Amino acid sequence: MMSRIRAKDTKPEMAVRRMLHALGYRYVLHDKRLPGKPDLVFPSRRKVVFVHGCFWHGHSCGRGFRPSSNAAFWAAKIDGNRARDRRNVRAIRAMGWRVLSVWECAAQPRKIDALQRRLVAFLES
Ligand SMILES: [Zn+2]
Repeated sequence: MMSRIRAKDTKPEMAVRRMLHALGYRYVLHDKRLPGKPDLVFPSRRKVVFVHGCFWHGHSCGRGFRPSSNAAFWAAKIDGNRARDRRNVRAIRAMGWRVLSVWECAAQPRKIDALQRRLVAFLES
C-alpha cells in the first residue's frame, strides 16, 4: 500500500491544481529553485502552496497514524519529514515569499469548498 503513495501528482494535489486552474490561477509546479520544491508556485505573487500527505507528514488526523510495526523507523521518517517541512517554510519565507501548507485531508470532496476559500484568501491577500 505504501509503495503506491507517490510524492508527486497525488490525488489531493491534483484536486487543488484543478480547482485553482479552473479559477484562473496559473502556477509553476515543483519549482526546484525554491527549498522543498513547493507543489504550486505563484511567481508573480511570490507565494507557494504545499499539499502535504497526512501520513508522510504526520498530520494529527486519522490518516496521520503511525504504523505500530517498525515504530522507530516510521517515527524517524515522519519526524524527519516534519523537520524538513519546517526548514523549507522558514527558508522560503526568508526569501520574501509567503507559504500556505494544506493537508491532504482538507482536499476531500466534502471539504473542498472551505479549502477553496482558504486558498483564494491566501492568494489574494
Ligand atoms: Zn490529515
